[in-house]
Amino acid sequence: MLRTRGIPVKSRTQVVAMRAAGLVVAETLAVVREAVRPGVTTRALDELAEAEIRARGALPSFLGYHGFPATLCTSLNDEVVHGIPSDRVLREGDLLSVDCGAIVDGWHGDAAFTVPVGAASSVSAEVRQLLRVTEEALWAGLSAARPGGRLYDIGAAVEAWVAGRYAILADYTGHGIGTRLHEDPHVPNHRMRGRGPQLQPGAVLAVEPMLVLGSPYSEVLADGWTVRTLDGAWSAHFEHTVAVTAEGPWVLTALDGGAQRLRSAAV
Ligand code: MG
Ligand code: MG
Repeated sequence: MLRTRGIPVKSRTQVVAMRAAGLVVAETLAVVREAVRPGVTTRALDELAEAEIRARGALPSFLGYHGFPATLCTSLNDEVVHGIPSDRVLREGDLLSVDCGAIVDGWHGDAAFTVPVGAASSVSAEVRQLLRVTEEALWAGLSAARPGGRLYDIGAAVEAWVAGRYAILADYTGHGIGTRLHEDPHVPNHRMRGRGPQLQPGAVLAVEPMLVLGSPYSEVLADGWTVRTLDGAWSAHFEHTVAVTAEGPWVLTALDGGAQRLRSAAV
């Protein structure tokens, strides 16, 4: 018999504890975003993020995770995710993805953004539109994380928003999150067969669409981490951690809990 596995749920108290971790991630990423400019190394951004996280009494989620050597993932241009900070110097016109996780009282938060280095006009209009559509697709997915909905509504909303304008990276998904960075279930960024298990209050998910200007296929570099597009096309990645609550989605890694963007994403 085919059974649909349920999604783990947290108590209200546990979700509130996860909000504390989410806010550390939100505040840290805001500081890092301000520091992204030509001439800065990705290692300097990493050191800044670690200091911000520790100053808030939190711990970096990624540092030491399966041996990952840094606080941030920094992925440039044709790199999609899981890039390792280094002495590489950012240049005007680069496209940088920053992914960050933090732990407070044993609970994780996880979020990411992609941004041009230097003036927005230093990247092509095509890249600027890719960024806009990827972030909007994230918010479309987050808006589907509500009681009465089902897990695969999220990927269906992402794919509907993308509407074939870009490829959605194959083989990578979002995930459940809690006392571990990655928990069940997988959260696909694509439309799936059926709608999947029910979304109950207390489900906490990291939603993270990755869109590419070229084909959806990627490879992992020899460092064992960095994921790069096979065809060298540039990509964008946006992520938030969201809790399903009786009142609707609560975006734990957004400073305002998602109030602004969820409203604008509502259909
Ligand atoms: Mg992440
Ligand atoms: Mg994640």
